[in-house]
Amino acid sequence: MPKRLNEEIQNEEKREMPEGLETQIAECRYCGQGHHVVTLDGWGEEKLQDEAVKMCRCEAAMIAKNHEKQIYRAKENVRVLFGEYDEHGEELPTPSPWVMGENIIAALGIAIDEIGGGNITKITIDNGEGIKAVVQMTAKGTIKVERKEGYIFTRMG
Ligand SMILES: [Zn+2]
Repeated sequence: MPKRLNEEIQNEEKREMPEGLETQIAECRYCGQGHHVVTLDGWGEEKLQDEAVKMCRCEAAMIAKNHEKQIYRAKENVRVLFGEYDEHGEELPTPSPWVMGENIIAALGIAIDEIGGGNITKITIDNGEGIKAVVQMTAKGTIKVERKEGYIFTRMG
């Protein structure tokens, strides 16, 4: 093989699989099915299984992924209802009575993880000035985020 072509192929291979990356077979945590995953050096079994679950389409993996998506969406809904940005990503004028503050948003995020984990079903935060944040698991199994201040703003799922 001409040297130049060989170098090109090697460069191509490097581009496809940069140093520190390798392909491994990881098993889905739920069904045990093997999936080819590209991994970084030093990934533990837990991380390998996480990647396999992302790729797997078995029922349990799909339920777990849907669950994660729900938690993600609930946190987004908290940001929209209480954060510095509106739902179009536009920054709200500050100081705004609309904004609850990063610590409260972080606290609601922790509460959403706990609700998702089945450890609590509901949390209410009252800012003492007539605004309440309520996050709860519904009977349908979705996470509802509400902002209450005379009017009630609700975001589902
Ligand atoms: Zn699976």
